[in-house]
Amino acid sequence: MEKYKVKIGLEMHCEISKTKTKVFSSAKNEYSEIPNSNIRPVDMAFPGILPVVNKEAVRMALMTSMALNCKQPEYMYFERKNYYYPDLPKGFQLTQETKPIPVGIYGKVTFECNGEEKEVRINNLHLEEDAASLDHYDDFSTIDYNRAGVPLLELVTEPDIESADEAVAFLEHMRSVYQYLDISEADSKLGQVRCDVNVSIMDSSLDDTDPQNWGTKIEIKNVNSFGGVRDAINYEIKRQTKLKQNGQYDEMEQQTRRWDEESGTTIYMRSKVDAIDYKYFVEPNIPKFKISQEWLEEIKKSIPRLAYDRKKEYMEKYGLSDYDASILVKQKDNADYFEETINLGCDAKQVANWTNGMILSYLNSEEISIKDFFLTPKLLKELIDLITSKTISSKQGKEVFAKTLEKKKTPKEIVKEEGMMQITDTNEIESIIDEVIKENPEQVSSYDPERPKILDYFIGQIMKKTRGKANPATASKIMKEKLDKLKQ
Ligand code: ADP
Ligand code: MG
Repeated sequence: MEKYKVKIGLEMHCEISKTKTKVFSSAKNEYSEIPNSNIRPVDMAFPGILPVVNKEAVRMALMTSMALNCKQPEYMYFERKNYYYPDLPKGFQLTQETKPIPVGIYGKVTFECNGEEKEVRINNLHLEEDAASLDHYDDFSTIDYNRAGVPLLELVTEPDIESADEAVAFLEHMRSVYQYLDISEADSKLGQVRCDVNVSIMDSSLDDTDPQNWGTKIEIKNVNSFGGVRDAINYEIKRQTKLKQNGQYDEMEQQTRRWDEESGTTIYMRSKVDAIDYKYFVEPNIPKFKISQEWLEEIKKSIPRLAYDRKKEYMEKYGLSDYDASILVKQKDNADYFEETINLGCDAKQVANWTNGMILSYLNSEEISIKDFFLTPKLLKELIDLITSKTISSKQGKEVFAKTLEKKKTPKEIVKEEGMMQITDTNEIESIIDEVIKENPEQVSSYDPERPKILDYFIGQIMKKTRGKANPATASKIMKEKLDKLKQ
């Protein structure tokens, strides 16, 4: 048994990107290359402005709360979290404290990590507004208020996570939940997901269900990639273990650190004594509002199928393996692509093979999303149909796939251009077979219908003459018939 047990709690922030407008203003909730273009006076904290709650953002937050098995509130209100920073023009962030209930409390999430099922308890889920984004240059900084006021969901877990692997598996699972609920792309590359990571270690011999025995919480702020979360946790476990071994751990105070990607280390920011007093109080300009039971039920009914449901369906309805179904549902866009192609009338297993094989490896190597993929479900169907109808062999199918993407033409156009059509015309195949028989009298006389192994040799000859274009099944059938007849 390891000497120390690791405890990790995550505070995962995810932008709700699918509402039309921001959470308290009518500015577009949309990414824009033009700084400060999606803003309204509310986002800029102009005097006299009043916030208006976006019902759609609340609906999406409540839907997430249900999907995470949380308890929902009967009333909702917002609170001011006061601090000064240039990315926050009002001087406070509108958010929700955990009492009595924000959008959700006490949920649980089950996910898979390295083939094993893992459960993490959710402490709470709350809705807040994102801050503006700052860019720092050598001697000046810029501020873009487009992000100010974008709805942000913060998910706080209990410290039930025990390794960097589990933390990343949890985040990947949550990304999938947000995507399937269709509330966000949850793309960390777009800055939509950011994490605060809390790590401590304790002696394994102690009872870890008693918080008294837990180690000192070290919070690492604003880690903005899943890889960063993994590295920051592993670094912190090593650092804390060393402190334990040197006898310095117990005198350490709770502290906040930041992850420095460049050096691959966490850097001290502040200690518990310097903790900021946010002076929370209820936002007076947003009246407390009721969340009706009818509305909650309506939302519950509208929860879409999540990855787990789709995976089960793919296995039961289409007979896919656990492995294939798992890969398909990992990213919602891939699962949608799979379903769309099947709905066009393709065989599910064939589509799964293409999607999980050639297509995913192409997308990974080119680093593009399936949404931007040239081979649309319609074109994949065209390719599969060419193979099913035996116009081309499945080996040729792979070639057509590559050329389709290279030349940005349809599979049909490629087959035509490259003269890849298989020879399925029996008359044509027959005359080629006659030639082969004439040219190989010795092999013909050694043919034994009981042991037709030499057939492979003849097929090889036919393929040579047709440059691989004879349909192998048809050629082999006719060849055997002819040889059998000669032997009678
Ligand atoms: P605070 O009051 O400082 O915000 P909380 O108790 O609300 O702290 O916890 C914040 C996060 O830290 C949660 O995700 C929680 O699971 C995690 N956490 C709390 N105690 C520990 C600990 N000893 N080790 C690791 N994570 C912890
Ligand atoms: Mg917070």
